[in-house]
Amino acid sequence: MRALLASLLIPAGLLACGPVSSACTDGGVHLITGYSGSAASPCVQTAPGHFELDIAPEAEPINPSPWYLFQVSGPAGQAANVTLNYTVSRHRYRPWVREAGGHWSPLGDDRIETSQDETVVHLSLELGQSPIEIAAQPVYGLTRYEALESRWPGGWQTAGQSVEGRPIRALVLSPDPPTPATSGRSWILLLGGQHPPEVPGAWAFEAFADAMVERQRSGDLSAGLILVPLLNPDGVEAGHWRLNAGLVDLNRDWTTATQPEIQAVVRLLDRLDIQPGDIELAVDFHATVADRLYLPQADELAPDSQERLDAWLIAMEAQGLFQHTEPRRTNPARRVSAKAVFTDEWQAIALTWEAGDHTPEATVRSTARQGAMLWE
Ligand SMILES: [Zn+2]
Repeated sequence: MRALLASLLIPAGLLACGPVSSACTDGGVHLITGYSGSAASPCVQTAPGHFELDIAPEAEPINPSPWYLFQVSGPAGQAANVTLNYTVSRHRYRPWVREAGGHWSPLGDDRIETSQDETVVHLSLELGQSPIEIAAQPVYGLTRYEALESRWPGGWQTAGQSVEGRPIRALVLSPDPPTPATSGRSWILLLGGQHPPEVPGAWAFEAFADAMVERQRSGDLSAGLILVPLLNPDGVEAGHWRLNAGLVDLNRDWTTATQPEIQAVVRLLDRLDIQPGDIELAVDFHATVADRLYLPQADELAPDSQERLDAWLIAMEAQGLFQHTEPRRTNPARRVSAKAVFTDEWQAIALTWEAGDHTPEATVRSTARQGAMLWE
């Protein structure tokens, strides 16, 4: 009965096609979406061995960060063609491929054909012994974030819960020696994972935090560290382009704190009795089209903070970090992001660290590590 119903629903011009769903099958070839990290993108079979996937966001309007992740399986050596249809955006992320949960590598250019307006992309895939996956970036899912707790052991706590009840985990490494109440400016706050597809931002977070944790544990850094690597676990799990499960852009929620993920951070700072002026540096990690540091305007910081920031930027420039990375003073009118709120309300030196969408992972990591080592 279901098959009969499906056959009645086939649009004219499509061959042997099932109803739109998050799975397509053609003979022995299967395409699956809608699993961990993968949105349930509508899939249709348009010809033998040819599938079409709609790449659509969780809500509109939305920033154009068209994430995709899907799995294809079938007889080894068989060809499978997959067309990505961008419903409200254009192709942005070059496809990556992996087999059997192994390492990700870029899909060869000879297997990618992009329409002139970049709204349609054809992928020619060859199946392996095991299922292959295709993704917009090498997937950095919940298990990768969970593994950070053994990368930097000790001091982890649950700061709060996401909309869907996932923990917002934070590592707190107290200042050493303990701060007298009067000294202030003795914490460094690192934030990440607000926008799910921005995987290079997660690499940058890891490398920056690695260096900061090492420095603190060796006594080279007296400030305490607060690491919140993943603010949007629901979005990561659901394969969202940008928003949390409440369909809110978390990095536009910092002034009003309507979402539990942002409230978790605010409450954590409150529990630690951190006052405005106590955070010397706040870095929020993201990824965008190019490597960039979004910096406060010169007049947004107190003179001593501005001097400290300038000294850091000069040190980074002297190490050649800005041959690729572009420091930019941001539009002072937008005051809702983490950067703006930690500048305005917490009097921190706050910036957004943007890794480039297509910057090699090793470059993203070495740049972030060097930046952290140069903070004085
Ligand atoms: Zn972002």
